[in-house]
Amino acid sequence: MYRNTFAALAAATVLSAGTAFAQQNIDFSKVEVKTTDLGNKTYLLEGAGGNVTVAVGTDGIIMVDSQFAPMHDKLKAAIEKISPLPIKYLINTHYHGDHTGGNAAFHKDGATVVAQDNIRARLVAGTTNGLTGAKTAPQPADALPTDTYFGGSKTVQVGGRKALLNHVYNAHTDGDTWVFFDDANVLDTGDTFGNTGRYNTIDFANGGDIRGLIRAADAYIKASNDQTKVVPGHGALANKATLVTWREMLVTSRDRIQKLFNEGKSEQEVLAAKPLADLDAKWAANEQQAQNWVRMVYNSFKRS
Ligand SMILES: [Zn+2]
Repeated sequence: MYRNTFAALAAATVLSAGTAFAQQNIDFSKVEVKTTDLGNKTYLLEGAGGNVTVAVGTDGIIMVDSQFAPMHDKLKAAIEKISPLPIKYLINTHYHGDHTGGNAAFHKDGATVVAQDNIRARLVAGTTNGLTGAKTAPQPADALPTDTYFGGSKTVQVGGRKALLNHVYNAHTDGDTWVFFDDANVLDTGDTFGNTGRYNTIDFANGGDIRGLIRAADAYIKASNDQTKVVPGHGALANKATLVTWREMLVTSRDRIQKLFNEGKSEQEVLAAKPLADLDAKWAANEQQAQNWVRMVYNSFKRS
């Protein structure tokens, strides 16, 4: 999701109802970090913003995502309760501020920030929300990832632990990374998958595309077995069965809206046709969210 401006507040309110919140909506003093042991020294941390995965090795810690900036101290304290070892790597799953807000502070603490290179480019340039036109300002140099990769995969290691990073092209954004800790059978998807029970968001103005979300879901189902613990960008810990249901929703959304797009229907015509009315009952919190999902899927096909 998005951060830090009045417009973004409006955007997040409109967009997400139940997935993520703009920073201004949150009284961070009241947020408590909940830690869940996923086994083999791997943990899920929930607070305010995207979910965080923490993997503890023999000489340091790998962390995936860092929530909103004001969560730094609370996340750090929660991690210190797990282990006194230093956080050596902070991996960004994508550029949105509810996942990268802690970059500068954790970097200052000594962590190397690792990401697909488009995250760096988006943070440097600033971004615009395709649905609302809301702008997010360029980020300062200390908030940028310093160890980036472009395509394929990358391995990040601390003593005895290995994170396998995989880039999926054009899914939630154009810089998504999913992370697999195979020794714990834990898969962190970032926002390419959500488990709030609602439609997710596709940041189509910044390279997001429904077809990439389906490719991501295919990759997760292939990488998972029935014991895999799937950490979604937002929402509760999930499993392979949750991914299968999610993928069905994505495929139905793609098929119906792509057909209308290919017939030359305009965005307004597709909205009026309510092509996902049967899905909306389950996946949309309200009419606005239903419309936003149709728009985000439709605009995926405008990319090319
Ligand atoms: Zn996001």
